Amino acid sequence: MKPASPSTANRILSNWQNLVQAVGETAATAHRSASDIKIVGVSKYVDASLTRQLIDAGCVDIGESRPQVLWEKHSALADQPHIKWHMIGHLQRNKVRRTLPVLDCLHSLDNWRLAEVLNTEAQSLGKRLDTLVEVNVTQDQSKTGLRASELPSFLERVISLPSLEVVGLMAMSSREAGPEAARREFARVRELRDRLQAELGQVVKLAQLSMGMSGDFRAAIAEGATILRIGSNIWEGVAD
Ligand SMILES: *Cc1c(COP(=O)(O)O)cnc(C)c1O
Repeated sequence: MKPASPSTANRILSNWQNLVQAVGETAATAHRSASDIKIVGVSKYVDASLTRQLIDAGCVDIGESRPQVLWEKHSALADQPHIKWHMIGHLQRNKVRRTLPVLDCLHSLDNWRLAEVLNTEAQSLGKRLDTLVEVNVTQDQSKTGLRASELPSFLERVISLPSLEVVGLMAMSSREAGPEAARREFARVRELRDRLQAELGQVVKLAQLSMGMSGDFRAAIAEGATILRIGSNIWEGVAD
């Protein structure tokens, strides 16, 4: 990895600004407001000093896929208390206790035992955790996330847990399949959310759709994404 230097800082800044602009333009095309779309900067490709440069560029939501790295970066960036930390990868139950105090949003809730542990630990911290339920809408059974058919009963159970705040759904497209397939998959997530919201009524507000990565965020915006998880585009020319 290249060391942090003024030129990497400039590159990160211009990558970030280009991304913000692309998100704004895509939102406008979709007749949506860019202020309804949050960009989580995925920092899993870089160390804490480059992550700091992304924060300096203006990113306030940082996403990590490994709990240990999240802990390390959170502590290295403890002087940045305004940052929101997102866990976008698999969270093992034995990592919950250490992760919860530094976590603002979990994107990858996909099993009941994890939900129970999270609820118990959050309760003992006196904290409510924002969570997104991960759904697999692709044909690929090996991908993570619950099947659409499993969601109604899972959601009903999870929303009964007082210390978890279910705020929406998270999904990934089957990237191999190309942009049109990705868009159909994202549309399926939105339809699923709409159906679940209608079924569950006032007890929950599934306002958030966390979908769209570097290669498919335009399709995700067109289908209603409210949270994008972007890594590669931000680190182009820095960590590739
Ligand atoms: C790595 C990762 C991302 C970011 O992907 P890019 O293609 O690098 O933008 C988003 N979501 C999850 C779950 C990831 O693991």
